Amino acid sequence: VIPPPLILIVEDDPPMARMLRSVLTAVGYRVFVVGTARDAVRQAVGRSPDLVLLDLGLPDQDGVEVVRRLREWMRAPVVVVSARDAEAQKVQALDAGADDYLTKPFGTSELLARLRVALRHAAAPADGSTPVFESGDLRVDLERRCVRLSGQEVRLTPIEWKLLSVLVRHSGRVVQHRQLLREVWGPADEQRPHYLRVYVASLRKKLEKEPANPRHLVTEAGVGYRLREPDEG
Ligand code: CA
Repeated sequence: VIPPPLILIVEDDPPMARMLRSVLTAVGYRVFVVGTARDAVRQAVGRSPDLVLLDLGLPDQDGVEVVRRLREWMRAPVVVVSARDAEAQKVQALDAGADDYLTKPFGTSELLARLRVALRHAAAPADGSTPVFESGDLRVDLERRCVRLSGQEVRLTPIEWKLLSVLVRHSGRVVQHRQLLREVWGPADEQRPHYLRVYVASLRKKLEKEPANPRHLVTEAGVGYRLREPDEG
C-alpha cells in the first residue's frame, strides 16, 4: 500500500494552520505544520514532503526566499499562499520556482483542486505523453490536434492552437504571461503582452459561451492565465 501524499504546511497564523490541517487530513493527506521559514527548510529536508503549501508572509523570512532555497535541491511541487493584491510577490514566487499559488481568502474546493493538480503534474510521466483534456463542454486532444465544444469541432488558427496547447499542458495551473509569450511566439516577443490579449480574446470567442465571463480560460490578474480543471468549482 502506498502511503497518501505528505504535505508540509508552512503557515504562521494558528487559526489558518488549524483550518488547513483539518481540511487536508479530512481528505486523507498526511500533513506536517511549521510556522517559520527556518523550520520550513529544515522539515523539507528532514521529511521530504510530496508537496509544500507555503504562506509567503512568514515572521522570519520572505516566503519567496524559502521557495528559492527549496528549489536548490527539492523537486516536489510548491504551492504558495499570498495576500490579495500581491501580484508582484506571486510573480516573484513563480519565477523562484513555485508551481502555483492561492490567493487569500480561498475556498476549500479551490485549495484541494490546486493541490490535486500540482501532485498530478509532479507524478506525470516524463515521456511527454499528452492525455486528452476534458472540462465541461470543452475537449482538447493534443495528439490528434482536435478541439471540440459540445461535440462540435472548433477551427483554430495556428497561433490560437499553439496558445491553447500550452495552456492544456499546464492545465489547472497558472501560466505566466512571459512563459506564454515565449512558448507561443519565441523569446524575441516576450515583451509584447498585447499579442496575448488579442489571442486570448479570440480563443475565448471560440471556446466560451460567454467570452466576457469565461469558464475555461480565466485571467489571473497581473500574473497570467489558467485553463480551469473540470473539478474546480
Ligand atoms: Ca502569514
